[in-house]
Amino acid sequence: MTKTEVATALRQVLPADIVLSRDEELHPYECDGLSVFRQKPMLVVLPRTEEEVRQVLLTCRRLEVPVVARGAGTGLSGGATPHASGVLLSMARLNKIVEIDPVARIARLQPGVRNLKVSEAAAPHGLYYAPDPSSQIACSIGGNVAENSGGVHCLKYGLTVHNVLAIRGLTIDGELLELGGRAPDHSGLDLLALVIGSEGLLMVVTEVTVKLIPRPQLARVVMASFDDVRKAGDAVASIIAAGIIPAGLEMMDRKATAAVEPFVKAGYDLSAEAILLAESDGTPEEVADQIAEIESVLRAAGATAMVVSSSEAERLRFWSGRKNAFPAAGRVSPDYYCMDGTIPRKNLGPMLEAIEDMEERYSLRCMNVFHAGDGNLHPLILFDANTPGEWERADKFGAEILELCVRLGGTITGEHGVGIEKINSMCVQFSDAERALFFGVKAAFDATGLLNPGKAIPTLARCAEYGKMHVHAGQLPYADLPRF
Ligand SMILES: Cc1cc2nc3c(=O)[nH]c(=O)nc-3n(C[C@H](O)[C@H](O)[C@H](O)COP(=O)(O)OP(=O)(O)OC[C@H]3O[C@@H](n4cnc5c(N)ncnc54)[C@H](O)[C@@H]3O)c2cc1C
Repeated sequence: MTKTEVATALRQVLPADIVLSRDEELHPYECDGLSVFRQKPMLVVLPRTEEEVRQVLLTCRRLEVPVVARGAGTGLSGGATPHASGVLLSMARLNKIVEIDPVARIARLQPGVRNLKVSEAAAPHGLYYAPDPSSQIACSIGGNVAENSGGVHCLKYGLTVHNVLAIRGLTIDGELLELGGRAPDHSGLDLLALVIGSEGLLMVVTEVTVKLIPRPQLARVVMASFDDVRKAGDAVASIIAAGIIPAGLEMMDRKATAAVEPFVKAGYDLSAEAILLAESDGTPEEVADQIAEIESVLRAAGATAMVVSSSEAERLRFWSGRKNAFPAAGRVSPDYYCMDGTIPRKNLGPMLEAIEDMEERYSLRCMNVFHAGDGNLHPLILFDANTPGEWERADKFGAEILELCVRLGGTITGEHGVGIEKINSMCVQFSDAERALFFGVKAAFDATGLLNPGKAIPTLARCAEYGKMHVHAGQLPYADLPRF
């Protein structure tokens, strides 16, 4: 199908102004937040209604044209990277809050609503939406659902999957699916959980119903300094082992605080090798008790200094430094590569030492910023894409971190998804049989494979190339499965 043929077919069923086809209109969509991967789409469509989304899907299905859904384009694994011969389906204009019900404590949202806007709209009712990715000022609820996004407060309040009650959306065949509902439980297989985190491979989400929770009366943060990153890592494990679940538990190493502090002026201890931020929320009595417990565990774990936020402004300043860590990396290095793996908390210390060793071997610096409470690492590998060989070294450095995550009992992604970035690492984490099941699920929703092809699930052939598939006596397992 040529670009003109597809554009003509789309313009027959959609308002002409929502189909973009000129080069200069397409370029802004060529990458998401992982800008090392770029691909100009064949066409971009900007629907305003669910019916227009359905018309896009029906047309693409009929013409066998791939479709990539896009929210705000802040994804860090290339999930929204366009397909060269496909349509980029931007959901940004479906950005209305359909309903806030303060009695039922729910919000019904179109997928293009920004994460932060939900809490802002719920605030007059004393409510908020708990999952708070650091990108919350920009990222969309549809993208959050597709990536099962997390954030600082997910340790206590759960990830997107724990805070979404229902979704509505369309398959590539234009079939409407309504998964979940307002009631706490549902019969049948849990398709809601299956779709959350499915990276736009199964359906296009057109509406999301989320839980809202009451704002705590008080929240305070302890900032603890450590003279050794391993001690800070071990302190995280000690807090959880003591039965404390802070509202947030984050860690930054010295390279990260040094990059952030001049930018945000968060008040971080720049003499510390690592700092921990541990938040407690609840009634004033609960917070006072828990902060005392946290301080006692941190002291025993070797904290060299501790400061407790004394005002809401100071608490927000402490978090603002953490939430701006990624942009701060952009101030100290021409490029950075943000990794996202998860390991059991007890292994944070050994992991940090291993990363230090990799920094030497790959001759690249790495800043460490962790959602430490849930063992989710965000090493930021600093490199210069204009220096020949640096991106290739950064890429291998990242892959080695992810493989170590798997060896330490963890996973290759905590919250940023697989996309195209981690597709090879999927071969390390999952067996041939498991990946074949992933393809089975994909085919059950999208038999044509037109929704976001080439993302998240590696083909068997790809894993064989990556050297991880067991080829016995020259016989490929699952020889009947297509190898793209
Ligand atoms: C500075 C920075 C900080 C970040 N911090 C965090 C963090 O703390 N926690 C975290 O989890 N992530 C974080 N991210 C990553 C990113 O913001 C999240 O993955 C976010 O959920 C992506 O949302 P988006 O709207 O930008 O989606 P996009 O990037 O546009 O798309 C992401 C994926 O969702 C799919 N998709 C989008 N909309 C739909 C839809 N309506 N239906 C079906 N599929 C859809 C796309 O196809 C793609 O696969 C950060 C990113 C940046 C740049």
